[in-house]
Amino acid sequence: MVSGQLKIAMFSAHSCPVGKLGAKDTGGMSVYIRELAHELGKWGHSVDIYTRVHDPRDPQIINLGQKARLIHLMAGGDEEINKLVVYSYLPEFTCNLENFRKHNDLKYDLIFSHYWLSGLVGDYLQQRWNVPHIMMFHTLGIVKNTIGIGEDEPELRIEAERNLAQNCHHIIAPTEKEKKELILHYGTLPERIGVVPCGVNLEQFKPVNKENARQYLGFGNDKIILFVGRIDPLKGIDKLIKAIPYLQNIQGLRLVVIGGGEHSQREIEKLQELAGNLNIQDSVAFPGVVKHDQLPYFYSAADACVVPSYYESFGLVALESLACGTPVVATDVGNLKSVIRQGETGYVVTDNAPHRLADKIALLLSRPSTDIASTVSIRASVSSFSWSNIAEAIIRECQLVLANYLTPVS
Ligand code: UDP
Repeated sequence: MVSGQLKIAMFSAHSCPVGKLGAKDTGGMSVYIRELAHELGKWGHSVDIYTRVHDPRDPQIINLGQKARLIHLMAGGDEEINKLVVYSYLPEFTCNLENFRKHNDLKYDLIFSHYWLSGLVGDYLQQRWNVPHIMMFHTLGIVKNTIGIGEDEPELRIEAERNLAQNCHHIIAPTEKEKKELILHYGTLPERIGVVPCGVNLEQFKPVNKENARQYLGFGNDKIILFVGRIDPLKGIDKLIKAIPYLQNIQGLRLVVIGGGEHSQREIEKLQELAGNLNIQDSVAFPGVVKHDQLPYFYSAADACVVPSYYESFGLVALESLACGTPVVATDVGNLKSVIRQGETGYVVTDNAPHRLADKIALLLSRPSTDIASTVSIRASVSSFSWSNIAEAIIRECQLVLANYLTPVS
């Protein structure tokens, strides 16, 4: 096993880890990269995250903490562009990355790339640098297409993912489910996949006094159901809105849908129209994107957080809510079946049928007459998902991959 401090190059070409969370293309992956890098830095490993400039005001280098930094590289101009357009600028990105590395005399032990676009950069550079390439896909195009909700993923992505899944040295999957999908759809060898869950920042996500949180947010005594995430058809927000009429007998019920940003306006309008058609427009609020550090107030003020998704690679929002002591109703996606304790910290339902979501939301809202645990116990149920535990597991994977790369098993 290789021990000691590692020098890691992380790639996140299309999505900036310090970008606006909850917007179209910036969500769990960004949180994952920045929290993991920060934690690895604390442990003495050096992490450089390379991403595309997406705002002319971006400084080239941002320190994310001890030994962890974010490096912006020019590729296709300095403004937001659609992630598929980023594909055509990957050669420019790669070239600028190499120039930066050489200019600053940097050497890395391994590459850890995120999402298929960055995987392509990693695949090319690992050969030049002669280091192993570890990948995390975050979502799989082929699984999205099988579900068939929202835009179809192009064949270009599916082919690229298949090649990467077969050729990179190692893959980190956040769930056993994703491991099985990689083996089934892309033919990855099982021994090249390590399963490490995602984490939650337990210092940031902790319970705030419910009354104070409600006062701060102006929620009064309403019963609050919370959704947090990107406004994407795959998130199943329409199903959650359709669940509200089943809960008509609950006084002062309010659904708060957090997330959005300018590129999600059309999706939000569709959801508002749906609420209007169901005559519940006054019970559904769309406050837009909320900063990550403000979310503990929302989770703490809520009576229930709902994750009605058709697909999640992991489902960070559920972890964050539980860390704040608020129970969750979720569909059986990502890692939610192992994160949520049925009947104790929330409920996992087989699918997002509105009546099924409503049944379980009603149970959470009728606390304390149910067996749902206290705020303190709900929080305690996710204590093992601290970023320090996750970083430790990731480093173990990296060391094994490096050892095998340097001394291949014959
Ligand atoms: N998020 C946020 N503000 C918002 C909406 C979402 O900070 O307005 C964050 C949320 O707290 C979570 C991430 O975006 O950390 C979404 O991650 P998740 O794994 O739930 O979904 P993904 O974006 O990966 O589909």
